Amino acid sequence: MEVTHRDTRGSTTTSSSAHRQEGSGGLWDSVKKAVLVIGSGFLFLAAFGNSLTWHLQRFWGASGDFWQNLWTTLYVAFEGHDAALFFLGTVLLPALLFWLFNALLLVVDTTGKPSFITRYRIQVDENKPVDPVKLRQAIRCVLFNQIFISAPMMVATYFVMTWRGDPCGPELPTFHWALMELTFFSIIDEILFYYSHRLFHHPALYKHIHKQHHEWTAPIGIVAIYAHPLEHVIANTLPVLIGPVILGSHLATTTLWLCLALVTTTISHCGYHLPFLPSPESHDFHHLKFNQCFGVFGVLDRLHGTDTKFRLTKQYERHILLTSFTPLTESIPDTPKDKLLDPKNWE
Ligand SMILES: [Zn+2]
Ligand SMILES: [Zn+2]
Repeated sequence: MEVTHRDTRGSTTTSSSAHRQEGSGGLWDSVKKAVLVIGSGFLFLAAFGNSLTWHLQRFWGASGDFWQNLWTTLYVAFEGHDAALFFLGTVLLPALLFWLFNALLLVVDTTGKPSFITRYRIQVDENKPVDPVKLRQAIRCVLFNQIFISAPMMVATYFVMTWRGDPCGPELPTFHWALMELTFFSIIDEILFYYSHRLFHHPALYKHIHKQHHEWTAPIGIVAIYAHPLEHVIANTLPVLIGPVILGSHLATTTLWLCLALVTTTISHCGYHLPFLPSPESHDFHHLKFNQCFGVFGVLDRLHGTDTKFRLTKQYERHILLTSFTPLTESIPDTPKDKLLDPKNWE
C-alpha cells in the first residue's frame, strides 16, 4: 500500500510550483501560524485557568491561591510517598482523562449519533459505524501500551526527575512560568515527533512498525496511541517526556502537559473537525495519504516540503480553527479534482 502512495509522489505535484515559489516567505508564514496556534491555545488556557480559579474560589469560599492550597493538601496527604503522587499525576490522571474523552467519542463512532457531531466528520463516508472487530483490537493495543509501556516509562522518569531535582516540591511554579514551560515542551515535541515519525516512515521501519498505526486511513480518537510498542516509546512518549526532564519541571506542570498532549493528539485523530477545537485536518490527511504532514504544528513540514501536496487540497483550505457551526465540508465542499486525487477512486 505504501509503495502505491510513494509512486504517486511525482504525479500530483505538477501544479505546485506556484506554491513552492513562496520559498522562505512560506516558511515564515508557517512559523507565524504555529506561533498563533500555540499562543492562542495558551491564551485560552490562561483565560480558562483564571475563570476556573475564580469560580472554584467563589464556590469553595477558598482564600488565597486555590491551586497552591489544593497542591498543599495533596502534598500533605502524600507526605513521604512522592512516588505514588508522581504515578497519580503522570499515569492515572492522564489515562483517566484520555478514556473519559475517548468514551464520548466512541459513543459517536459506534452509534453514528448525535448528528450534530457526525456532521463534522472529515472523511464523510468512513466509520459509519466503525468496524467493531478493528475497534476491539485497537482498544486492546491502547491498553497494552498504557499499562506495559507508558506506566513503566513514568516510573523510570520518576527516578530521573528526582535525581535531577524535586518534582514534587511543596511550592507550585507560577502560572506564567508554567506557560513558558508548556511552550518549550511544545517546541521540543514538534521537533522530536516530526523526525522520529519521519524515520518510522523509512520503508525498512515502516513495514515492521509504523504500518500498524496506519491501518486506520480514517482514524478515530483512540488511534492516537494505537501503535507498535517501539513506536509508542520513541515517537509518542519520549518527545513528550524529554521537555519536562530538561527543565526539571514540577509534577503539576508535567501532569498538565501530559493531559494537554493526550487531548490534542486525540483531537488530531478523532476524525471530526469540530468548532472551536484545534484543526485535525493535517494529521487526518497524513493517515489518508501516508507521505504528507508528519509534524504537529506544520512548521517542519513546510521547512522540509512534506506538505506540498497537502497545500493543494481542500483539506488544507479547511485546516483552520472553525469558528462557526457550519461544517467545513459544507462551506468548502470537495471538487471532482479531489476525488481524482483520492487513491480509492483509482481502481
Ligand atoms: Zn496518527
Ligand atoms: Zn505516519
